[in-house]
Amino acid sequence: MKNILVTGGAGFIGCNFVRHMLNKYDDYRIVVFDKLTYAGRLENLHDVMDHPRFAFVRGDICDAEAVERTIREYDIDTIVNFAAETHVDRSIMNPGAFVQTDVIGTYTLLEAARKFGLERYHQISTDEVYGHVEGEHRATEDDPVRPRSPYSASKTGADLLVHAYYITYGLPITITRGANNIGPYQYPEKVVPLFTTNALQDRPLPVYGDGRQMRDYHYVMDHCEAIDLVLHKGEIGEIYNVGTGQEIENLRMVEIILDELGKPRSLIQHVEDRAGHDRRYAMDISKIRALGWEPRHTPEEAIRKTVRWYVENEWWWRAIRDEAFERYYQEQYGKR
Ligand code: NAD
Repeated sequence: MKNILVTGGAGFIGCNFVRHMLNKYDDYRIVVFDKLTYAGRLENLHDVMDHPRFAFVRGDICDAEAVERTIREYDIDTIVNFAAETHVDRSIMNPGAFVQTDVIGTYTLLEAARKFGLERYHQISTDEVYGHVEGEHRATEDDPVRPRSPYSASKTGADLLVHAYYITYGLPITITRGANNIGPYQYPEKVVPLFTTNALQDRPLPVYGDGRQMRDYHYVMDHCEAIDLVLHKGEIGEIYNVGTGQEIENLRMVEIILDELGKPRSLIQHVEDRAGHDRRYAMDISKIRALGWEPRHTPEEAIRKTVRWYVENEWWWRAIRDEAFERYYQEQYGKR
């Protein structure tokens, strides 16, 4: 592995992964290929743009010609695909964009990987493909997929295609399914940065339904270490769950944010629940543990560390919470 194409590398997890790889390895070139949708921002890569082993290409993963040109130009041997439409609420408003990027985009990258005989295609997937997980059970990689939102259904479609390319064409693939990531540079439509930046402005925190949904809040740098490990030690054709293996209720997440900021609980405002909202995501992480990986942060530590980053990096989120963001916010929460 020498020249890695990181698709979606201007987004939240991708930009953290780029930083991790440039810092850890001194002989890898990282090429970010990103469409720069509303969620992708060059500011997320501000400290690596001038790095001698970094390059940025603006492009759409659904555009086969642009993908192939980039693979040729940079002699790419590995694709790590982060590029996706990622926000569940937006997938309910506009599912078409999710099917396009998450399914057709993945197909386009797989075709390119096959055509150029790449050493590895790695797909970044999500715990949401398992859907709501009942009782005390934790989803293992062998569990059936039961997606319940247009976002998770599109991501599931992509996973199935990736696996099919391994079975049918022998493409050397791996897949990681990450829990709810949080940390630096997460677009503030997602719940932890949304609530943190709302609380910092003394605005109410719109909690969906009773707030008792269970989520595994996972620190993004821990996730990046796991992806790196799977790229180097993962078995070809395999799927690995990645998270803390612990869940907390959303209401507890809200309390941790408010406590860390010294803000009152009276900012909590229950609003109408999201349609088809999954109650519980929970994954068994013993398979990735067996590769020698451990999460470094509990959900509570991850939330506190994330909140502190938003406190210290107002320059970053203020620029995003502009008029267009407020229009989205009103459309999403105004009527609830
Ligand atoms: P994000 O929305 O912050 O970033 C997505 C990036 O993809 C953006 O930079 C965007 O510009 C780019 N992109 C979108 N459409 C594109 C296209 N057609 N061509 C090229 N680039 C395009 O997302 P994120 O939270 O960083 O998630 C990254 C990946 O990880 C996604 O595949 C997501 O499904 C997966 N994932 C996310 C989480 C999470 O909690 N955030 C958890 C598990 C898995």
